[in-house]
Amino acid sequence: MTSEQLYCFAMFQVLLVFLLASFRLRATDQSSRALPLLQGAICAELFSWLFYFWPAVGLSLVLSLSLSALSMSLLTAFCFKRAGRAVPWWWIIPVGLALGVSYSYFSYHRQQEISLHLMTLFAFLLIGPCFWCFRYLKPNPTLSDFMMAAVFAAWLLICLLRSLMLLIAPDWLLSGLLISQSFWPAVSAGYCIFALTGYMEETQQKFKDEALHDPLTGLLNRRGLANAIQGCLAYLQRQRHSAALFMIDLDHFKQINDKIGHDGGDEVLIAVAEALQKELRQSDVLARYGGEEFIVFLPQTDKDSAQLAAERLLLAVRNMHLPQSTQTQNLTISLGIAVFDADFDFDCQLRRADHALYQAKARGRDRIEFATDTL
Ligand code: GH3
Ligand code: MG
Ligand code: MG
Repeated sequence: MTSEQLYCFAMFQVLLVFLLASFRLRATDQSSRALPLLQGAICAELFSWLFYFWPAVGLSLVLSLSLSALSMSLLTAFCFKRAGRAVPWWWIIPVGLALGVSYSYFSYHRQQEISLHLMTLFAFLLIGPCFWCFRYLKPNPTLSDFMMAAVFAAWLLICLLRSLMLLIAPDWLLSGLLISQSFWPAVSAGYCIFALTGYMEETQQKFKDEALHDPLTGLLNRRGLANAIQGCLAYLQRQRHSAALFMIDLDHFKQINDKIGHDGGDEVLIAVAEALQKELRQSDVLARYGGEEFIVFLPQTDKDSAQLAAERLLLAVRNMHLPQSTQTQNLTISLGIAVFDADFDFDCQLRRADHALYQAKARGRDRIEFATDTL
């Protein structure tokens, strides 16, 4: 085996491992079906190296270079799908075909210079958009997406430098080729690894979001609330600011459930969550604490502002437009409020707010009560 064949065979094996790894992946964007395009791109590239492994002449050379063009085209389509955009097949198919035909033709006739320049041009037409997709178009980019963009940028740079070297120092062609060849393993492994870790990062993020949010209303749950205010509490304590905690409970919700059923009750809960959220500041934290109990944490809030905010919430729920099926009776809430500026023990403040809520219920509901002393 020549050293060049060893190189090709090594590339084939590495890509095979990535292809197998990709089948162990749970794509987070199953609806867009991007992953099969990546698998197709890896598959085409690994066979391209395999055909190059045979003495790269005649039919095996043409096959190898055509598969390489196919791989780049599928990779471009994958990048558009990952960016959540429609795949511009009208662009990818003709450009990919032109690359395959021209690259094979000039390589077959041993016009290496022209074929290398062509590769640079086509890299900008196909890999350029890949860079754009991961750098600028993909929503919620992860660190892996940023690395994907970096790999595509490196790909373009290598092609560009190789063409420049051909123009200004053609004698260096051989060493230039050698230099660019030594980068391809990193480029191929780079796009495979970061495409796969991109999916893994998204899955991790999805699980984290699910662990911190309530699936019905989309609000933070207890753990999410604790998470969200952890840093905030320390800051408020340092700055000696006061804060307020509202414990909110829907009045006579059992009766509503009995009248309109559990599903109807769920709709009401969603509508209440939306109505409360609309009335709050950006810095306030709203969470669903239990069945029909909500918590609001208002940083930098004194007793007067807490009263105003709480009255806004009472009014918002009273005036709520309930979903059609649930318009059976007026909906109201009761609020227990703890305002604090010295004791930032969150559990203690929760107990105070809960106690105040109990009093609001006992004194007739649809009202606000402030916690008076520490418990
Ligand atoms: P009160 O004014 O004293 O609060 O009366 P209430 O009927 O609201 O009493 P309570 O707060 O104890 O009622 C809680 C009810 O909320 C019990 C349960 O049927 C209902 N509930 C709890 N979680 C859910 C939920 O996820 N969906 C629906 N539809 N109902 C829920
Ligand atoms: Mg309750
Ligand atoms: Mg209730």
